[in-house]
Amino acid sequence: MAKDLYQILGVDKNADEETIKKAYRKLALKYHPDRYATATDAEKKEAESKFKEINHAYEVLSDKTKRENYDAYGDENGPQFGSGGSGFSGFSGASGFDDILNSFFGGFGGRSRSANPNAPRNGEDITVRLNLTFEEAYFGVEKTISVTRDEECPDCHGSGARDASSVQTCPYCHGSGYVTQRQQTLFGVQTVRTVCSNCGGKGKVVGDKCRTCKGNGYVRRNASVKVKIPAGVDTGVNITVRNEGNAGRNGGMKGNLVLVVYVAESARYKRMGYDLYMTLPIGYYSAAVGCKVEVDTMRGKTVCNIPEGTQSGTKIRVKGYGVKMLNKESYGDLYITIKVETPKGLSRKQQQLLADFENSLSDSQYPQIKKYKSGK
Ligand SMILES: [Zn+2]
Ligand SMILES: [Zn+2]
Repeated sequence: MAKDLYQILGVDKNADEETIKKAYRKLALKYHPDRYATATDAEKKEAESKFKEINHAYEVLSDKTKRENYDAYGDENGPQFGSGGSGFSGFSGASGFDDILNSFFGGFGGRSRSANPNAPRNGEDITVRLNLTFEEAYFGVEKTISVTRDEECPDCHGSGARDASSVQTCPYCHGSGYVTQRQQTLFGVQTVRTVCSNCGGKGKVVGDKCRTCKGNGYVRRNASVKVKIPAGVDTGVNITVRNEGNAGRNGGMKGNLVLVVYVAESARYKRMGYDLYMTLPIGYYSAAVGCKVEVDTMRGKTVCNIPEGTQSGTKIRVKGYGVKMLNKESYGDLYITIKVETPKGLSRKQQQLLADFENSLSDSQYPQIKKYKSGK
């Protein structure tokens, strides 16, 4: 039983041309023999058969008639009778196969890929700095990013031609994109295949160029990209928005938009990882007798229990009041450092009250001072 061609390309039965082409290109790049130059023989063999499978699937599914036949009869050649027939049709011919490859890789063999200007090139990524307030980073936010990028020309859809009739098959290479020359060398006559200079390897020449893009096939445009920034991002995080970068060339994939996040500091909170740190000043009466303090946190108010005899510098952990973790439903913690504030500008009466109070204390109520005085 032959494998399902849609499955081979990993696409849906209703996939459109573009989807099939994309899926094919991705797989073909993955299993292209060039990538297995240093692999073991077994790996090479496997990749080769995979590669053939992919190409066959694409050959059928990219051809309207063959695809219809395949959908209706399970064979690109139409209804098959008996078992002795040409069950497996293989490639329809070396030239067809070669064309597909040429259009994507510049073909097999010694020709380097870069030698073919017709090969698809992925669009470049666009990197943008994204400034966020502390609150935006904490809660997440939707941002509209302005970018200037290459986009496929809306008038010629990338062909660079004014209309369909102004695209002609290159008369020099007859559409192959290559010219073959015979050269006399020391070792005899050699055939050299080079990229056609007339069409630059495209196989086609454009007579009347598209006015909008001047024949480039793409135009520089300003675009707005809406991006949902998740809660919990921090300075240094990169957010990649797929396919929002520059357009590719020759059917290559679009580049990505990469946002480099910078988060403004907060006056109250210091962030370390997903934990937040803050200082809570309390009076020394509260510190001495203990109290409940209402604390403003990023997640609303919470009540903090200050036990009796709390020292300045004591850290209190409020679980789950830190920053939301990226792609997780959990939060870091909030650490509150208690700072006991010494009152200033005491009146004479207040000073007297404090003096009376101080005199009433015993050494054991000041263990640290006692320890220090004893020289230990
Ligand atoms: Zn155009
Ligand atoms: Zn040409």
